[in-house]
Amino acid sequence: IFAAVEMAPRDPILGLNEAFAADTRAEKVNLGVGVYYDDNGKIPLLAAVRAAEKARLEAMPPRGYQPIEGPAAYNNAVQGLLFGKDSQLATSGQTVTIEALGGTGALKVGADYLKRLVPGATVYISDPSWENHRALFESAGFPVENYPYYDAASRGVNFAAMKAKLDSLQPGSVIVLHACCHNPTGADLSDAQWDEVVAVCRERGLIPFLDMAYQGFAEGIDADAVAVRALSSSGLQFFVSSSFSKSFSLYGERVGALSIVTASKEEAGRVLSQVKRVIRTNYSNPPIHGGAIVAAVLSSPELRQMWEDELGGMRERIRAMRTGLVDQLKAEGVAQDFSFVIKQRGMFSYTGLTAAQVETLKADFGIYAVSTGRICLAALNSKNIGYVAKAIAQVVKG
Ligand code: PMP
Repeated sequence: IFAAVEMAPRDPILGLNEAFAADTRAEKVNLGVGVYYDDNGKIPLLAAVRAAEKARLEAMPPRGYQPIEGPAAYNNAVQGLLFGKDSQLATSGQTVTIEALGGTGALKVGADYLKRLVPGATVYISDPSWENHRALFESAGFPVENYPYYDAASRGVNFAAMKAKLDSLQPGSVIVLHACCHNPTGADLSDAQWDEVVAVCRERGLIPFLDMAYQGFAEGIDADAVAVRALSSSGLQFFVSSSFSKSFSLYGERVGALSIVTASKEEAGRVLSQVKRVIRTNYSNPPIHGGAIVAAVLSSPELRQMWEDELGGMRERIRAMRTGLVDQLKAEGVAQDFSFVIKQRGMFSYTGLTAAQVETLKADFGIYAVSTGRICLAALNSKNIGYVAKAIAQVVKG
């Protein structure tokens, strides 16, 4: 039965990791990853997570099944992060939140539910976007198209083109928006532009689906929720996927959530009953550990403060790497203006390096980046930044 099975295309980023692992050069650097490393090049175990895990281990709780939608303590904590403490959207009962298997799992449950809700819709994602967005919505059965987003000339957002496209969409279209720290470009909308996007969604009757994978990595928990808050105060109905992979450094625990803002508590009850059917036939109910840790951290004032401080530390370190890279490129005599790297937010930057330059970085220096020129600033550290800056300088100077 497997004789005619074709080999599926390799995931480009995982392929990069394999090539990096096989590289024997001691000075090699992997800028292709989507993971936060600390200054020692390690994935951190946050102190707040460690404390919550220690307490849990000591309590040795039994491991029964969880509710299909995950525990209320976790789901309420997620709503607090997204909508703000004591927000009306949370207290009114009109918002459904379910625990999901990472941000990817949240997008998948959301996509499958949307396919039942609006089967004839088209889904629009930014050009470019996180590569799994297209695959996820296509595998749920939707046609997926792009809306203009990145502007290579300004290294920012071509907002006029984006808005013109959104203005032309059919009512009922689903638009996937990166809530902050756009992956892969690092270019985000301004607060005023978010207000305009919300207005277009209302006028055209679009269904917004916010992807929040990096809350806290741009400015802070509340500041990074600007898109969620703008939609919240609009009275519109919308979807939000949350990921805690990066913000809690819990990648492999698969901790995320899907929130759906409906018009009333009664509507939310019906929507939840349908979303539970989607979950039940996928994985039945979520695993316990990661969600329990996140809920414990968020519901303890001390641990929450500790976590926010650690998250702030990760954010500041990435910012320092952005500034450091720009300064060192200048010091290496690069005439080209790289200051856009400082303006971009989150883990990534679209550097403008060409596929050929990326190839040279790999071949001559053992520095791995995505062929689009995307680099992960969180993979730079005080030991490798000088080497990377020198290499990029040589490559761009030709
Ligand atoms: N959305 C975006 C924009 C992402 O960058 C990522 C992670 N790379 C995800 C969703 C998925 O997050 P998770 O690893 O929690 O599934």
